[in-house]
Amino acid sequence: MKRKPMIAGNWKMHMTTKEARELVSGLLQEIGDVDTTAVDILVAPPYTALSAVKETLSGSPVLLAGQNMHWEEKGAFTGEISPLMLKEVGCTHVIIGHSERRQLFGETNETVNQKLKSAFSHGLAPILCVGESLEQREAGRTTSVIEEELEKGLNGLTTEQVQSMILAYEPIWAIGTGKTASPEQAEEVHAFIRKWLISKHGEAAAEKIRVLYGGSVKPENIEGLMAKENIDGGLVGGASLKADSFAQIVKRGS
Ligand code: PEP
Repeated sequence: MKRKPMIAGNWKMHMTTKEARELVSGLLQEIGDVDTTAVDILVAPPYTALSAVKETLSGSPVLLAGQNMHWEEKGAFTGEISPLMLKEVGCTHVIIGHSERRQLFGETNETVNQKLKSAFSHGLAPILCVGESLEQREAGRTTSVIEEELEKGLNGLTTEQVQSMILAYEPIWAIGTGKTASPEQAEEVHAFIRKWLISKHGEAAAEKIRVLYGGSVKPENIEGLMAKENIDGGLVGGASLKADSFAQIVKRGS
């Protein structure tokens, strides 16, 4: 049996507080008829909009996530945000290791690991992103890159922790490029991730873990992706910035 799907929207550095309220109000209207016992819906707005989004979501089952966080609770870390701060504004989840953090802001598998441990100790469910660049894919290194990200990123985590987290396979060449991995290409990597999880944490735990696909997900391609056995949802960037396209992805993906 497949896992409960999750459709997650990563707004990146988009949306002022005012725009965020409008987007979420529109989204709530569009998804009014969606059976949320059958799909988890999550949004990850920028930090400045988290409180406003939480307020607008009041009473709705839509989940709230941070896009990143520091592993410390507080300190001299200019420009960073802590797990306590995310919790306080109502986040239940946090995205960790997005490729933009890795490529543009020096995130490593080691800092990802520290962040994952911190998220667990503060009761935040992490969404860990992994994925290869075009160069790595063309060099035949896709699975070795993913394996290293998993080995180092999840180092020292217990099976109980790992089975409560969410993974996202996001091929870097498909992010924001309009170029989606085909369902077959994505499934090949998702199946690899599932096999890796089985080998490290056993079949029962591995079967519970949702592995989302991210990379130019749109209303037109979500169904083909979701038809694959090991694809359990989508992490959506660009198409999550419009209420109607995100709602369409939720409806077609669940
Ligand atoms: C993302 O940011 O995680 C992402 C997949 O972006 P996009 O959907 O725009 O490719």
